[in-house]
Amino acid sequence: MVAIVAGFAVGIPLSNVPLTAVPQRTALSHAFGGLAAGLVGTAEYFLGVGESPAQLTTFRMSAIVVEVILGFLTFTGSLMAAGKLQEVKWIPQRPVTYPGQNVVNIGVLVMAAALGVLVVINPTAAWSGQVFYAIVGLAILFGVLLIIPIGGADMPTVISILNSYAGLSAVAMGFVLNNKLLVTAGALDGSSGLILSIIMCRAMNRSFTNVLFGAFGTVQKEAAGSGEQKTWKQETPEGAAQLLEQARLVVIIPGYGMAVAQAQHKVRELYDQLTKRGVTVKFAIHPVAGRMPGHMNVLLAEADIPYTALVEMDEINPEMPQCDIALVIGANDVVNPAARSAKGSPIYGMPIIAADKARTVLAIKRSKNPGFAGIDNELYVLDNTWMLFGDAKAVLGDLVKQFGSGGLH
Ligand code: NAP
Repeated sequence: MVAIVAGFAVGIPLSNVPLTAVPQRTALSHAFGGLAAGLVGTAEYFLGVGESPAQLTTFRMSAIVVEVILGFLTFTGSLMAAGKLQEVKWIPQRPVTYPGQNVVNIGVLVMAAALGVLVVINPTAAWSGQVFYAIVGLAILFGVLLIIPIGGADMPTVISILNSYAGLSAVAMGFVLNNKLLVTAGALDGSSGLILSIIMCRAMNRSFTNVLFGAFGTVQKEAAGSGEQKTWKQETPEGAAQLLEQARLVVIIPGYGMAVAQAQHKVRELYDQLTKRGVTVKFAIHPVAGRMPGHMNVLLAEADIPYTALVEMDEINPEMPQCDIALVIGANDVVNPAARSAKGSPIYGMPIIAADKARTVLAIKRSKNPGFAGIDNELYVLDNTWMLFGDAKAVLGDLVKQFGSGGLH
């Protein structure tokens, strides 16, 4: 009972995070899940050695070793992933790579597995305890090594894979404890995590093996710097409101910035003002806009925007040439045309929402800083693009005021 209460005491405040921090919060949960599985496996092994060596059958020992390796690597891997997403100072955000990295990583894992085989065959030998601790150490090390070559931008995908590992570790724990509920729940977690990772990889046009090995999310130098000479044009809230009012079709493209600014309610107000004036307003939803799958859907639903106004990327893109105004609200990578043409770019090949095909683009962001992938965006300096600099909530508030102030009818 004390343990359950202690768990609640830690868990409830931990759930008190903004939606934008959910990925790192989820990673922390996986870390705890992995640690719990690893500790249970370790305890089961040493209890077995001390009290009932006959129960340490080959099957049970194999399950313990799998549980411990997956559990501890999930523990440190998830802590590192959470740290990168939270931008903890002492964890480098950029991918850290060195020659032979994959050989080292795979070598550590193979060593842990080989020692595992040794312990499975000889669970009660005098040296087995030390070998078991070595397996734990190697799994902990592997978790760290697995994450350091991966860039912060791609961490949500990795978190989903770690979710899958935590589930598989729970399956192994279920076999160790002969608990069918754990096996079932773990398998559910393991398979759903894996499917989610594959969906996210597809949406970002990443190869799945790239997520697991090697410099995922590296920023190539040649991709950056484009568009530096071009000028950014700014529009006033008055001018932008007039453009919006005259439009027949406005496509709103929300991104991570809308989540940061918590601007969804202001978006709703603007939506009401425009639809009242007979403007058709659609929301273009990119599968990886924001920082977690469904991020935009959740926020827009919170503001009671009708679900029928939300259109998936593949469906809206053919309509973009007919769109009078693409209103980009804190989105960057998901509307970056570099994804189509810049071969060296880290987002090359990622399907994007074709905002650049609209007749006019209005883009809200605070500065000229790049998006999550760290690369410049040509969209902002196109001839038909006008910037509205500022926090999304404040800018939208100004826009809505234009409609309410009697300036526009
Ligand atoms: P993004 O590329 O991260 O760009 C967000 C933009 O919002 C930034 O350019 C930023 O510019 C602006 N912004 C931030 N705070 C703002 C505020 N308060 N007001 C106004 N603007 C603000 O976002 P995205 O276009 O949504 O793309 C998502 C990225 O995350 C992609 O690279 C995707 O691959 C990655 N990702 C997403 C998922 C997922 O599941 N959704 C998973 C894995 C990876 P300023 O700083 O100038 O304001």
